[in-house]
Amino acid sequence: MDFYPVAIEKLIEEFAKLPGIGYKTAQRLTIYTLNLPSDEVREFAEALIKARGTIRYCSVCGNFTDSDPCAICSNPNRDKSTICVVEQPKDIMAMEKIREYNGVYHVLHGNISPMAGRGPEDIKLKELIKRMNGDIKEVIVATNPNVEGEATAMYISKILKPLGVKVTRIAHGIPVGGDLEYADEVTLSKALEGRTEL
Ligand SMILES: [Zn+2]
Repeated sequence: MDFYPVAIEKLIEEFAKLPGIGYKTAQRLTIYTLNLPSDEVREFAEALIKARGTIRYCSVCGNFTDSDPCAICSNPNRDKSTICVVEQPKDIMAMEKIREYNGVYHVLHGNISPMAGRGPEDIKLKELIKRMNGDIKEVIVATNPNVEGEATAMYISKILKPLGVKVTRIAHGIPVGGDLEYADEVTLSKALEGRTEL
């Protein structure tokens, strides 16, 4: 399209690559950016580059971190014998908000989806199995309550149970098809409390 100078087209294009942002929204964000004072734009650009440059995944749990192991894994007050398995780092934030869970986490970075051709080897499952060192008393599977999340939970249970680990699943309260990150704190708290053994 020739409506805009190249630099503007390029910025619209970049915004439109973000999840949930269509062309129109990208256009609006671009115009908004162009009207900002230039030091604010610089701050924004630097925040993007700094976050991308300093944040990596924790080598233990897979959470976002700027120090390795992450703050949760290296906290001596957290119960290392309980691991809560989630699909994405943002799910850890949802769990942490309820302030009731004192164990550690494991981020799968995805789920098992036979429909989409995603198998166990496509998520951080080997890394989870490696953590079963005999000191783990319980693995709480907090994958999302949808088809992929349930398939993932069943698979984890099948793999870990023979290792003598208690595997539980949060279930109650989270609507089927809902995402963990959108569950309110009371619902998530009840879901954790009412977990059942797989
Ligand atoms: Zn960690």
